[in-house]
Amino acid sequence: MNAQLQMTPLDARVASFIRKPRQVLIDGQWVAAKSGKTFEVYDPSTGAEIARVAACEKADVDAAVAAARRAFDSGPWARMSPSQRGRIIWKIGDLILQNLEELAQLESLDNGKPIGVARAADVPLAADLFHYMAGWATKLEGNTIGLSVPYTPDAQYHAFTRREPIGVVAQIIPWNFPLLMAAWKLGPALTTGCTVVLKVAEETPLSGLRLAELCQEAGLPPGVLNVLTGFGETCGAPLAAHPQVDKVAFTGSTEVGKLIVKAASNDLKKVTLELGGKSPNIVLDDADLDLAIAGAANAIFFNHGQCCCAGSRLFAEESIYDEVVAGVAEHAKGIKVGSGLDPQTEMGPLVSTEQLDRVCGFLDSGQAEGAETVVGGRRVGDTGYFVEPTVLAGTNPQMKVEAEEIFGPVVTVKPFKSTDELLPSANQSNYGLAAGVWTNDIKKAHRTAAELKAGTVWINCYNVFDAAMPFGGYKESGWGREMGEEALELYTEVKAVCAQI
Ligand code: ADP
Repeated sequence: MNAQLQMTPLDARVASFIRKPRQVLIDGQWVAAKSGKTFEVYDPSTGAEIARVAACEKADVDAAVAAARRAFDSGPWARMSPSQRGRIIWKIGDLILQNLEELAQLESLDNGKPIGVARAADVPLAADLFHYMAGWATKLEGNTIGLSVPYTPDAQYHAFTRREPIGVVAQIIPWNFPLLMAAWKLGPALTTGCTVVLKVAEETPLSGLRLAELCQEAGLPPGVLNVLTGFGETCGAPLAAHPQVDKVAFTGSTEVGKLIVKAASNDLKKVTLELGGKSPNIVLDDADLDLAIAGAANAIFFNHGQCCCAGSRLFAEESIYDEVVAGVAEHAKGIKVGSGLDPQTEMGPLVSTEQLDRVCGFLDSGQAEGAETVVGGRRVGDTGYFVEPTVLAGTNPQMKVEAEEIFGPVVTVKPFKSTDELLPSANQSNYGLAAGVWTNDIKKAHRTAAELKAGTVWINCYNVFDAAMPFGGYKESGWGREMGEEALELYTEVKAVCAQI
């Protein structure tokens, strides 16, 4: 924690990027908020102000949506050949890799995540998403359909489907993977020919703004991508409800997801949602325990537990329960907590004082409701937003710590006797984003995977993401999928064309 002296020296481009108030991108121009208002961006490991950005409100939303509308209706983007579009999107991926160190530092500084994680995961995954999606630009195809219309038995038809871009898309993203969430959203939208107004999270606006510069450098025409910084109620809400927006794509809390649905219901915009989770992670008694224990620790402590798919409900078969609890607790104790920019850090701070209060509130409620704290359970220090990696035992589904999404480094562990007993408990959640199973029995692995109500099931691994693999949730974890071919469908309308020949 006292690692000030060992910090990664700030890249000169990062230092210059944060030095002056950052403007937002509307119609190819960098502009201040129309009100002139700005707000502070904080370093979560110290609470100190590191930058200022524009506080966009409804007037800025109107300008950004109008630009995206013009770019979609009459700009070159929709008319460009798929190959040209694909090359620009590929170049965005290349530019992300060329600026990897700068983006990783911005992400670590702004969000608090360990610099090594930003370098190895966030930035390369974001680049890969654009590279993957670029290939699809030339491969979005419809079908030809043979008709058998009963009341025109002698007619001949040529019927086919076209996949057309849905139009202007509002994209609202959270703070836990700021660059990567921007990539997950922008990749399929741009590939299908949509235009975008992206609102980045107020806690972590920096990497999204830098990404917008790289998109311009890659050759994205003006208005195709507009990026706003601002708060949920004053910027996100008018964007989600805007009558000129055709679709809203949102990642964030289930609570705000429900508000987005209401906002979009006025004119029945298309909506996709990637929301919260309380994912079960299951260790069977025949698992490779070293692998499973390390994997269970990673499932919850990666990104400080600030993952919608965090394996926050750990289930261990009775005969190995004590060993799993002790092993995960040992991992938790060994995690080096510190500033993201300290290269030794394995777990950084939570993102904000609100998240710190929220997670500490859950820890207090766990204690009050009788959960046993095996390890952790407290704030670390009194500067920055650090919390100890925490393992809780003796919980039940009525306790808030087991029922609700904590979004911090806190896992509950429970024993189970058999998979018959386990599955109802594992599925006992309003969420259904992800799940994990650790076993060497291939039949049990696949049977369990099939029974779990979750959008992703990892077997003998966790937190494996790939641009080609769809991600999204059952139940209150969301609507639709990100990444993979599935994401592209959700940015297109299908038009059936029927010609009599
Ligand atoms: P978290 O709880 O993880 O901070 P939120 O769901 O509150 O996540 O925020 C995710 C994103 O949604 C952020 O960009 C935030 O500004 C935005 N947001 C928050 N409230 C609203 C709202 N009422 N309408 C639209 N966007 C919102």
